[in-house]
Amino acid sequence: MTDETHTRSDGQSVSYDVPDDETPVTCAYCGQPYAREEWLAIHHGWAHPGDLSDEEADAFRAAHDAEETEIREFRLRALGALVAIYFVLLMIYALV
Ligand SMILES: [Zn+2]
Repeated sequence: MTDETHTRSDGQSVSYDVPDDETPVTCAYCGQPYAREEWLAIHHGWAHPGDLSDEEADAFRAAHDAEETEIREFRLRALGALVAIYFVLLMIYALV
C-alpha cells in the first residue's frame, strides 16, 4: 500500500492509502488520486471550476448528470422499500 500525501488548497496536508496494485487517476491541478475517471471529473468540477478545459467541463457535466440519475433512482428504490416495509408491518399489525 502506497501512502501518498498531498497539500490541499487550504494548506491542510491530506494522505491517501493507494493499494499497490491500483493505478489511480490523479488530478492535474492538486494531485489527489481517484479510483475512477468519473470521480476525478466530479472533483474537477467542484474543486477547480475556473481552471477546466472544455473537455474537462464536458466530462464533469456528464459525470454529474450520471450521478444525479443514479441518486434519483436510489431515492425511488429506497422510497419503494420503505412503502413495502410499511405495508408489511401494517398487515402484520392488522392480522396479529
Ligand atoms: Zn484537484
